[in-house]
Amino acid sequence: MDRNLSLITPTGRLTLGNYLGALRRFVAAQDDSSPYACFFGLSDLHALTTPQDPDVLRATIAEMATLFLAAGLDPARATLFRQSQVPAHRDLAYLLECTAYTGELNRMIQFKEKGRGVPSTRVSLYTYPALMAADILLYRPSVVPVGDDQRQHVELTRDLAIRFNHTYGPVFVVPEVRTPASGARVMDLQEPARKMSKSIENDSGVIRLLDPPDVVRRRVARAVTDSDTGPDAVRPDRDAKPGVTNLLDILDACGGSADGITTYGALKSAVTEAVVATLEPVQKRYAELAADPAYVASVFADGSARAREVTASVLADATAAMGL
Ligand code: ATP
Ligand code: MG
Repeated sequence: MDRNLSLITPTGRLTLGNYLGALRRFVAAQDDSSPYACFFGLSDLHALTTPQDPDVLRATIAEMATLFLAAGLDPARATLFRQSQVPAHRDLAYLLECTAYTGELNRMIQFKEKGRGVPSTRVSLYTYPALMAADILLYRPSVVPVGDDQRQHVELTRDLAIRFNHTYGPVFVVPEVRTPASGARVMDLQEPARKMSKSIENDSGVIRLLDPPDVVRRRVARAVTDSDTGPDAVRPDRDAKPGVTNLLDILDACGGSADGITTYGALKSAVTEAVVATLEPVQKRYAELAADPAYVASVFADGSARAREVTASVLADATAAMGL
């Protein structure tokens, strides 16, 4: 069976970008025939590659788990799990660290940008690609859809799998890398050249999934546009008008239409209305689910048990192949 596998790291509260670009796609991908086809996880171990306050991390994980369900993920049609509850991830990560070269990790752009040369950088940020390779290889997907920012890590995953299979025998399925047609890529409302991101420090250009309507309205109202005033000012042009283009993209992704809209004020009102309408059912469901945290925890405990079940043989094969 081919697997659909995606992880989100609880490094911040989920954004509109995470919803339109990830969660909503996960919901569309759920499989009516078997929850074994789709694995959606919280990569909580990856969160520890940067400093996190334990209480804040716990709360972020709980909120994110609840939002997975509130967004429409269905434990009967997808497996929802937590990486930290499936020890095979860290077990295989160590074995893969024993096959990766420091030269390979040194080349990783994300590490170069975020950590290299910074004295308090955690070792785990450096070795993160080995854990990510384990995340993937344990589930044997034949294709990994990946955004540009993670492409290099998946290429490394392929290199490690090929090397392992060559050295120790054919244990891993070597996944193809696929960059999906970009679809909804939500940009930061204040800095529309940069994508909206849950972990950013100054989040004034970010809409969170649980933001109430008045916060959405305020953030959209303050969104950066440009000084065009002509009758055709409201039009997409990614290079010349990134702010306006982003608002049009959000409007479209949230089911609204810019037909007949000629001013930025009217555009922002339409965006606010469409975003609020998109978030409302998720927030309503969230409120119900948040009243029953034991249920949410049990969904993830069951899913993690299933993830342990399907990953056990891959880990066992890799361990034995290396002579342990
Ligand atoms: P971080 O700042 O921690 O990297 P992030 O918001 O970029 O947070 P990720 O954990 O990197 O989120 O990605 C989770 C999922 O959300 C991925 O599938 C990613 O493609 C998607 N995603 C993240 N940001 C956006 C965005 N602005 N627009 C569309 N999809 C997004
Ligand atoms: Mg990211």
